[in-house]
Amino acid sequence: MAHLHTRFVGRAICYEESVTSSNEVLKKLADKNAADGTVCVAEEQTGGKGRLARGWFSPKGKGLWFSLLLKPSFLPQEAPKMTLLSAVAVVRAIREVCQVEAQIKWPNDVLLNGKKLVGILTEMSAEFGHINYLVVGIGINVCVPHDMVPEELRPAAISIADAVEGKVDRVALLAKVLDYLESYYDIACREGFGPILDQWRDYSITLGKQVKVIAPDKTYVGTALDIDETGALQVKKEDGTVETVLAGDVSIRPA
Ligand code: ADP
Repeated sequence: MAHLHTRFVGRAICYEESVTSSNEVLKKLADKNAADGTVCVAEEQTGGKGRLARGWFSPKGKGLWFSLLLKPSFLPQEAPKMTLLSAVAVVRAIREVCQVEAQIKWPNDVLLNGKKLVGILTEMSAEFGHINYLVVGIGINVCVPHDMVPEELRPAAISIADAVEGKVDRVALLAKVLDYLESYYDIACREGFGPILDQWRDYSITLGKQVKVIAPDKTYVGTALDIDETGALQVKKEDGTVETVLAGDVSIRPA
């Protein structure tokens, strides 16, 4: 790939016309000992995956649907922060290549004009307190025609092409995302995730906002204060107590 400046990320690339899910392809390659940094890119996914068995709509030639294999030496409990790191890398690349102000909704939703532009799904294989590998799947809507999007997703979905004039160079964007994934990953491995979380704060639209939290066990509203060193969201409830949100859906309420 002409524009790529990485040391190991994307140096092995598997390119497929059609896959069920690029994460699934890469997990199979990982089990056959594929190299650290291997990337699988697909023109289309017929069974693209989101979190919690949700789907990711990935029509042919209209997006960047790809996954990255990483073999980090940090502990499994650090892995959720790779999702935040990936969102930071994607937002920075999109801002630079496409000149649009993508933002991050906690933890890893990349939005443009309040609508969903990117999906990120990190999967981990770990045993005995050690990570075998991580697969980070990223789906970026580059030029999905609005009327092609399934009706139920349409109001909340957006593509880069909806916000920019002219053609988006998919290869240049992919190369930039991989460049930033590697450089932020190198920082995280060297210094920990602190600098990455700072960059995440800069790109966040969640912090300082009124939010509604739907956690597995309860639902409440409050103000999103900050993320802690684990990447969890701290929400101050109306009664003044602070909750730490590890998982759950957080929606931003209109002011
Ligand atoms: P969530 O947003 O619920 O955390 P994910 O980030 O995993 O979950 O994304 C999956 C959800 O995104 C799906 O349930 C669907 O509502 C929506 N979705 C699926 N495909 C697309 C797409 N190409 N563009 C925007 N939104 C999509």
